Amino acid sequence: MAQKREIVVLGAGPAGYAAAFMAADKGKKVTIVDPEENPGGVCLYRGCIPTKALLHAVKTVHEARLAGEWGIAFEDPKIDLEALRSWKEQVVGKLTRGTGQLAKRRKIEHIRGRGRFSDPHRLVVDTPDGEKRVEAETIIVATGSRAQTLPMMPDDERVWSAERSLDLPFVPDRMLVVGGGYIGLEMSYTYLGLGSEVDLVEMTEGLMPGADRDLVKVFEKANADQYRRIMLETLVDSVDSGKDGLKVSFKGKAAPPEAQTYDAILVATGRKPNLEAIGIEEAGIELTDSGFVKVDSRMQTSADSIYAVGDVAGPPMLAHKGKHEGRVVGQVVAGDRAASVDTTTIPAVMYTDPEIAWVGLTETEAKNEGRDVKVSRFPWAASGRAITMGRSAGLTKLVIDPATERILGVAIAGAHAGELIIEGALAVEMAATARDLELTVHPHPTLSETLAGAAERFYGTATDI
Ligand code: NAD
Repeated sequence: MAQKREIVVLGAGPAGYAAAFMAADKGKKVTIVDPEENPGGVCLYRGCIPTKALLHAVKTVHEARLAGEWGIAFEDPKIDLEALRSWKEQVVGKLTRGTGQLAKRRKIEHIRGRGRFSDPHRLVVDTPDGEKRVEAETIIVATGSRAQTLPMMPDDERVWSAERSLDLPFVPDRMLVVGGGYIGLEMSYTYLGLGSEVDLVEMTEGLMPGADRDLVKVFEKANADQYRRIMLETLVDSVDSGKDGLKVSFKGKAAPPEAQTYDAILVATGRKPNLEAIGIEEAGIELTDSGFVKVDSRMQTSADSIYAVGDVAGPPMLAHKGKHEGRVVGQVVAGDRAASVDTTTIPAVMYTDPEIAWVGLTETEAKNEGRDVKVSRFPWAASGRAITMGRSAGLTKLVIDPATERILGVAIAGAHAGELIIEGALAVEMAATARDLELTVHPHPTLSETLAGAAERFYGTATDI
């Protein structure tokens, strides 16, 4: 029988490798079980990183169009799909080789394969060399999530998951995007930039469910006319695979009367945790009603020897939330009695253009919960920096507790909102008041001034309004 290992991490995405690295840094002997050559998971190989590489590339197309309005005209872009794909793959290769080196330096053992529990301390791992049995004192489950499929979608290589769309199989002349959430909007932005005509179908009454509507309006104002159609409160009814395309009929409020033909369909209707194939029953871990692993604030499951982090441990399914949980659990399993997870400051960022970002309490949540809050908005039309960038369509807002003046939430729609939101995250995390933001001197001219401006507005003394 092989030796009993100290800590085994099942799945090496941002949650798993953050847990492994932290535990190793704290002196533990760690083993990772993951099929890829290097740690990285969906985020680095087939998710966040390749998406952002492509989004960054196509943003230059959109920027070049905007520059035409300032007297700098470019010719229509010539897109070399192979070169773009290869650049994206270089980015992925660089980062995943990097995580591999970081794991080696920490002397982390890596067993390549997929593992499933045979009991709360044992895994059977399918490796390229056959089954391997692994026993451990502690096992951390970080197996991530995968895209949900739709029953009416045919088995056709022109029906893409997000991962497939990142391979850039071809640029469809006409594309249907199903789902107006994170992936639907980020990938449709990418394919619009590459030259596709895009129709988008979303089952709810608005894009980006979960985001405040005033933020979504900023996105819509800038982008609605880029799409051929945005069909809200509508569903795909049926899809027929034909030689000349995928014939789609719709049902619902904005359904066109005739079936529409597309060269490709991207299905982006949410993700579900990877738990079916890992032996949940053998492990003896309980699930929540919505199908995630039940964990406490130290990420421990109902089985004493097993912890769970990242997408399997519940929403939001975001890499930075997983990484944070991984770092905490790494400390927990190394014996830190105080380490625990607090999820009030997990920022959400939609990397479209304009970007949408928020952190802490949203205005919608405050309304739904009947909480007494004051909302202070700063429109970017009053921001010198936004105007110099041709990006005056934007909004920064603070959700403030009127009694204590404490900042409970921050939301931003506009260029670079994903970077700007960090000041908001720090403010919420440190229990800053609107006065703290107002008294912090923000450099001029920057977009960050809109945060100070929103705080000034709360006191009725905004210089720029
Ligand atoms: P999502 O939950 O963000 O959006 C899914 C959308 O599809 C929703 O708007 C939903 O109402 C809609 N929908 C569901 N079923 C539908 C149907 N049958 N027809 C039409 N619309 C339908 O999910 P996603 O975009 O697939 O992303 C998956 C996960 O990945 C998300 O949970 C997100 O947390 C994560 N992600 C995050 C980022 C980021 O942080 N920028 C980027 C990509 C993905």
